[in-house]
Amino acid sequence: MTQNSQELHDLSLTELAAALRTRRVSSVEVATYFLQRAKAYAHLGAFLDVQPDVTLAQARAADARLTSGHSGPLEGVPLAHKDIFVTKDFVTTAGSKMLEGYRSPFDATVVARLAQAGAVTLGKLNCDEFAMGSANENSAYGPVKNPWDTTRTPGGSSGGSAAAVAARLAPAATGTDTGGSIRQPSSFCGVTGIKPTYGRASRYGMVAFASSLDQAGVLARSAQDCALLLSAMCGPDPERDSTSLDVPAEDFSLKLNDSLEGLRIGMPTEFFGIGVADDVRVAIDAALKHYEALGAKLVPISLPRTELSIPVYYIIAPAEASSNLSRFDGVKFGHRARDYTDLNDMYERTRAEGFGDEVKRRIMIGTYVLSHGYYDAYYLQAQKIRRMIADDFQQAFKQCDVIAGPVAPTVAWALGGHGNDPLADYLADIFTLPASLAGLPGMSVPVGFGACHMPVGLQLIGNHLTEARLLNVAHRYQQVTDWHTARPAV
Ligand code: GLN
Repeated sequence: MTQNSQELHDLSLTELAAALRTRRVSSVEVATYFLQRAKAYAHLGAFLDVQPDVTLAQARAADARLTSGHSGPLEGVPLAHKDIFVTKDFVTTAGSKMLEGYRSPFDATVVARLAQAGAVTLGKLNCDEFAMGSANENSAYGPVKNPWDTTRTPGGSSGGSAAAVAARLAPAATGTDTGGSIRQPSSFCGVTGIKPTYGRASRYGMVAFASSLDQAGVLARSAQDCALLLSAMCGPDPERDSTSLDVPAEDFSLKLNDSLEGLRIGMPTEFFGIGVADDVRVAIDAALKHYEALGAKLVPISLPRTELSIPVYYIIAPAEASSNLSRFDGVKFGHRARDYTDLNDMYERTRAEGFGDEVKRRIMIGTYVLSHGYYDAYYLQAQKIRRMIADDFQQAFKQCDVIAGPVAPTVAWALGGHGNDPLADYLADIFTLPASLAGLPGMSVPVGFGACHMPVGLQLIGNHLTEARLLNVAHRYQQVTDWHTARPAV
């Protein structure tokens, strides 16, 4: 091996792709190295499935393409996928006992597109059950540990993705964001994550949680790496996902270096008020100072219905989940109770055994708010307020180009720290939910450390289809700072 293996995990995705292209290292060498690393750090709980034979076969095929000169932009680069994307060569559980050992007959579009660009799959990453959670403690396969402090949560629901990238177990990973599940774990683990505009990436093959909110994205070490990945995975998928946007894939790397001179950054008063911990506030303020030095102007704005995003989201998401999860009835997929007396008993036992507490809670809430007599009072009202939240953003974007604020009110809390109080988790989603409800793209960019040396993420929110701008705003910051290169001492 010509590339010192000690350095492989320190290379960014962009650097790794270049090293592979110039044959300084082979895909098999890189894959072997990361597979060993995944094993050595198994105690973090990030991976749910690894299949070394599959990974190495993919790496050999990538090496052959690299040698023949017919390679894609991600040729030979290893990636890991959140276990919510179905994969035919790896088990897909969605973090649920319901899908224990499940093998999909096909790959999710996002997985297939990344593979088409040359990426090699390292394995599947732990997540909250059906992506419901903010701490990765709802996984049926145990919590993931935050590599910065293994007694703390990595965030959720893409906790495995964030922990794997932070601990350098993979150069990048896919994730999904329904109400913050890419941005919040990215913030908690000090990695760069982006959730594109709703519909930018296909939902085909993503185990459904709340279909009007679910969006695929990526977690990586820098905005530049995110741009490379998004360019490969976005784009219309009209035959398989009717909600995928009819917008051609674009090269998100092209505008990374654009000047930020005159950029108007909106600061919502609601994102900077009480409830934001001092340590988070200090790191965010320092980042905004950097932006001013880069030529940006800070503009006070208001997103007046920010607080309402919590009840609105926690009505709409469970409503959609209760419908989506009805497919898990013991007939077509996954788990089926062993002992039962008749069909209804089989359904009941299967679902009682297969789903965890949080999933059951949401199915009950969702069924309740959709039921006759309550639909108008809850679901319909929530939909109306969702529209108003989206309108508030459009008002705000008349005064600014991007919106900035914290991703979460605090740094990562202790595992078990919220006890049995799901509301404490829900409330911590306050700053990520609004953009999700409005279908807007959002990012988390590491901007320093707060209490106990835990990472803090700056949230950037853009208008629809402005991912290239967001990545540009993040990239310029990352060129003059090095928070995104900090790594935990695991
Ligand atoms: N924390 C939110 C929830 O529990 C968001 C999860 C997500 O984005 N998948 O629903």
